[in-house]
Amino acid sequence: MRHFAIVGSGPAGFYTAEALAKAYGDSARIDIIDKLPVPYGLIRFGVAPDHQSIKKVSGRYEKVAESENVRFVGNVAVGDAVSVEELRGLYDAVVMATGAPHDRKLGIPGEELAGVVGSAAFVGWYNGHPDFADLDPPLDAGHAVVIGAGNVALDVARILSKTRVEFEGSDIVGHALERLMGSSIETITILARRGPHQIAMTPKELGELGRLEEAAPDVDAADLPPAETDEALEDRGLAKSVGLLRQFAAEPQEKRKTVVFDFFARPLRIEGDGKAERVVVEETRVEGGKCVGTGKTYDVPSGLVVSCIGYSSPHIPGVPYDHAKGRYENDEGRIDEGFFAVGWARRGPTGTIGTNRPDGYDVASQIEEAMAVGSDGGKAGGEGLDSLLCERDVAATSFTDWRKIEAAEEAAARAGSPREKIVDPAEMLRILGH
Ligand SMILES: Cc1cc2nc3c(=O)[nH]c(=O)nc-3n(C[C@H](O)[C@H](O)[C@H](O)COP(=O)(O)OP(=O)(O)OC[C@H]3O[C@@H](n4cnc5c(N)ncnc54)[C@H](O)[C@@H]3O)c2cc1C
Repeated sequence: MRHFAIVGSGPAGFYTAEALAKAYGDSARIDIIDKLPVPYGLIRFGVAPDHQSIKKVSGRYEKVAESENVRFVGNVAVGDAVSVEELRGLYDAVVMATGAPHDRKLGIPGEELAGVVGSAAFVGWYNGHPDFADLDPPLDAGHAVVIGAGNVALDVARILSKTRVEFEGSDIVGHALERLMGSSIETITILARRGPHQIAMTPKELGELGRLEEAAPDVDAADLPPAETDEALEDRGLAKSVGLLRQFAAEPQEKRKTVVFDFFARPLRIEGDGKAERVVVEETRVEGGKCVGTGKTYDVPSGLVVSCIGYSSPHIPGVPYDHAKGRYENDEGRIDEGFFAVGWARRGPTGTIGTNRPDGYDVASQIEEAMAVGSDGGKAGGEGLDSLLCERDVAATSFTDWRKIEAAEEAAARAGSPREKIVDPAEMLRILGH
């Protein structure tokens, strides 16, 4: 028998478990360990609450979790409740799939002011992540600034723009919905350091901004490169997105709220009296794909600043860290003998949910090469972990427990919503009688 531990129950963790379960069948036991009592990582806590169809991918992970040879072990923080060293002693292979949950810093003065938050925190707040339940973002100023030129920036701008009716069918948590409905933000400025040809915004997400009930996109035609240069774009998705920006510029809409696309704009500092009041921005130009400051500056008023500029993986003792890249040191997923990384912990925060699948399958095949199906490593595996957790009085949750939490969330859903997420882990454990 072989024993494998996967640390993290997001997409990367589940695809790795799926691949290992298929490869080894009955001759392996696979534990997917998560620090939270509930599974699915960013599928639950990152993907936008009004994009329910994307969250349906969890149906595939459910099947994996219900396989005979796979267990979900929630509420166990690796590096805290149990160490990586201990896991490596108990299992034949340990796969780090912890994602990249920490916001990258802007690295500009004023970042520490109240009202400046990272997207992990802001997105976590409206998606019911327990670490950000108390975020309390200031929504009483008229103007918000979102820094970044990718889909996360679009998610944040859209969530700040929607009406109650537009949130129907979403699972945005009640505490965030009520705060957002009382928000006085009417202008949301998206600051992008470079131009329309350098965005990482996909057409589906960008197109949504043009169809909002009370908010309209505002693009300055002067920021758009000559139309004939779009033909040179190799990425057809990007060409479509630029086409949408052209349409927004050509057909301006008058609505109560505005989402301003401010291109060639680099934040220099955030200013205010004890809290964010404005972002000082430098105009840029793009030279050879790189952003160069022009020295010309202006202010964008902002009581709330959300930076959407990337993430880093958590530091966990026993896991070598690549500080420059903000992820674990690894060579094509291999950290050390019997020790691997997948997903965002391996590659950094790029790609879609599906990008994590080949990662997981690749690491599973590296493991299979090193440990033939049917061989035995003589490790204690899950039984050893259970004894450790019992000694330490750690109340681990199972997939059956998650089912009970899920049922309670569905029962508490407001009309038209699939669930009302339980935010507090202690409340989850109370439901389970732990
Ligand atoms: C705001 C946002 C929106 C997104 N929207 C989309 C979208 O619409 N479509 C799309 O295709 N992609 C989207 N993505 C990207 C997608 O979510 C990622 O590609 C994917 O979740 C990465 O998977 P992962 O398993 O590496 O990490 P994660 O999903 O982050 O999972 C990591 C897991 O590890 C656990 N963990 C962390 N530390 C520990 C520890 N010490 N011990 C135990 N467990 C731990 C975490 O609790 C978590 O469950 C979005 C990302 C973000 C940030």
